[in-house]
Amino acid sequence: MKIAVLAVQGAFIEHEKVLESLGAECIELRKKEDLEQDFDGLVLPGGESTVQGKLIKELGMEEELKKRIQSGIPVLATCAGMILLADEIEGGESAHLGLLPAVVKRNAYGRQLGSFYTEAEVEGIGTVPMTFIRAPYIEKVKGDTEVLAQVDGNIVAVKNKNMLALSFHPELDEDKSIHEYFLKELC
Ligand code: GLN
Repeated sequence: MKIAVLAVQGAFIEHEKVLESLGAECIELRKKEDLEQDFDGLVLPGGESTVQGKLIKELGMEEELKKRIQSGIPVLATCAGMILLADEIEGGESAHLGLLPAVVKRNAYGRQLGSFYTEAEVEGIGTVPMTFIRAPYIEKVKGDTEVLAQVDGNIVAVKNKNMLALSFHPELDEDKSIHEYFLKELC
């Protein structure tokens, strides 16, 4: 199984380590030409969505990423990745890839509660550790987007067809069940 990890900015290496420990092969997407390869799944990592959004545009990667996702390639998007994927960003900022029918709120927990840890159940996966870092949450799902997890009444995990998007960082905890689910059930 070959998984492409968007590697223009952010926490991509951590995803690669978890995926490789589960037997997947990882390739890094750093430039347009990297998207000429075949792969079975795509990871959009955490980081800074404005920087990532700007880079994928400037590097000419945006359209091909969109095409791949629309053609059904499984996507695991975490934190900033969730923001890249959403079709609406609260506050009027324009969407990036804009493929996930959901309204995302950036830095939704404010500065005080910027980072925290909890555990909660993700539907179909079980109870998992959740590390939030200046995290977004989904304010509203649209269309056929399903809610998979909520923490304190806020939506922190959603799925729509081939796209799984999380507010938290599963790659930073020991538990590998999110990545296992991605490889086994989606890819
Ligand atoms: N706050 C970041 C953003 O808005 C996301 C943080 C993260 O990916 N950990 O892009």
